Amino acid sequence: MNGSCIIIGGGIGGLFTGAFLSKNGVKVTVLEKNSIIGGGLQCFTRKGKTFETGMHVAGGFGPNGSLNKICRYLGISHKLKLQEVPSECSDEIYYRSSNELFKIASGRQQFTERLIQYFPHEAKGITAYVDELFRLTEEVPLFSLHEDSPLLENKHSDNFLISADSLIDKFVQDKKLREILAYLNPLYGGVKGHTPAYIHAILNVLYINGATRFIGGGQQLANALCEIITDNGGVVKSNSPVVKIEIEDKAVQYVQIETGEKYIADNYVSAIHPLAMVNIASNGAFRKSFVHRLNVIPNSTSAFSVYIDLKPNSFEYIDHTCYYMENFGLMWEQERQANQSIPNSFMYMTPPDENQGQYANRLLIHCLMSFEMVKKWENTASGKRGTSYEEWKFLMANYLIDKLSTLYPHLRDCISDVYSSSPLTIRDFYNTKNGAIFGFRKDCENLLISRLPVYTKISNLFLTGQNVILHGICGVPLTAINTSEAILGKNAIINAIQRQNENC
Ligand SMILES: Cc1cc2nc3c(=O)[nH]c(=O)nc-3n(C[C@H](O)[C@H](O)[C@H](O)COP(=O)(O)OP(=O)(O)OC[C@H]3O[C@@H](n4cnc5c(N)ncnc54)[C@H](O)[C@@H]3O)c2cc1C
Repeated sequence: MNGSCIIIGGGIGGLFTGAFLSKNGVKVTVLEKNSIIGGGLQCFTRKGKTFETGMHVAGGFGPNGSLNKICRYLGISHKLKLQEVPSECSDEIYYRSSNELFKIASGRQQFTERLIQYFPHEAKGITAYVDELFRLTEEVPLFSLHEDSPLLENKHSDNFLISADSLIDKFVQDKKLREILAYLNPLYGGVKGHTPAYIHAILNVLYINGATRFIGGGQQLANALCEIITDNGGVVKSNSPVVKIEIEDKAVQYVQIETGEKYIADNYVSAIHPLAMVNIASNGAFRKSFVHRLNVIPNSTSAFSVYIDLKPNSFEYIDHTCYYMENFGLMWEQERQANQSIPNSFMYMTPPDENQGQYANRLLIHCLMSFEMVKKWENTASGKRGTSYEEWKFLMANYLIDKLSTLYPHLRDCISDVYSSSPLTIRDFYNTKNGAIFGFRKDCENLLISRLPVYTKISNLFLTGQNVILHGICGVPLTAINTSEAILGKNAIINAIQRQNENC
């Protein structure tokens, strides 16, 4: 064996890190607080139907995509049931006030041509903008699985570090087009003047290269990663919340779970929100200035989701993601609007099932929402939040269903059951501050403050997960590579992935 490692948190970051380490001879133990592993990949089942909690659409599974290569390296590609989102229309954006519909195509050329069809007077700007998006991703070698130095330590171009909205404004003038180019905003919680252009570029290029959905939910990926760990002699323990990280002489001595059991290893990886980590670490283990910094880094916003169980053969299946906007002018306001009682924009989708036919089984509506909206119930626990909370959730879900019914007037007749989750659900389920869906917010006005390395001042404690480099199904596995290489040696995983893919 190549030493031992305990991983705190069995979400996407913890399981990918565990899989990389296990495959390279490390004896891994993953400790997950929830009864089901997976974090953002976890699904829940009601009346026989499975709903995704935090993973609905993924980039990077295309033929040359980083996730595809990573899964091939890990030997799990054949276990995943994926649905490629059609390139003809990978996303659609509907503006209610003007009744306009924009269908976004994927594939670099098709994406560009489709936008030019809608905005012919901006043809030159659109082409130059798309070129710049792809060029910006080349400044992050890890994105294409090339040997890398830590993100942002390289020298970067001016456009890399400006805000996403400024980048768009540099290339095109048409106000509607500027909004359309920012339509993926809810997938990274974009904030005008703050979200760095490189995050916008990475997310957009991922989706331009082709989006994918999990057939039957993302739990299958969590399970496949878990199997790598257990097949290599490791352990993945659910129902095991870590309540203490004992640190002495700048090294972790052990971690303890709620039952009192202690776990000891050579190395430890924290795959949970860094604030949650310092809260369970020995007093004084981290410098006050570091803890203060973690407390002041702004977190991304939270979300409200409505999960609808549809009656059989009633609501037509939609094979892509749909974005509903009440008016133009709201695209960069979604975070601020998230604080208002009535959401003006949301996304909706019908996730694919095995042997998907003409009709959908499930419909999901998802809108950004600030924690402020649920603050009055912040001291309550799941299932015991009281009638006022349940009534508010009921109203909110119905508001969103009514909005969507303006597009699908028969929707109410198709509904069998409705479930919903709020920022409180996300806070308690993932253990993130104020239910932040994408962890710490990256800010081009102050990039250093939200930049966390995978190393800590504690010699055998490493970080992974969405707070370190980038969130989401593509970003978190990339961080997991960095974290694993901090333990196994520089470029150990990247080189192995490259070798594996050369041989394919
Ligand atoms: C509603 C929603 C929708 C989203 N949609 C998408 C999408 O469509 N595409 C996309 O790419 N990304 C999406 N995301 C983001 C994506 O889910 C996250 O970026 C990703 O899950 C982060 O991975 P992680 O490993 O950092 O954290 P997580 O996946 O959240 O894993 C953290 C794990 O640690 C566990 N944990 C916490 N504290 C402890 C403790 N003390 N002891 C033991 N275990 C602990 C948690 O239970 C959890 O399982 C969405 C997120 C949300 C919330």
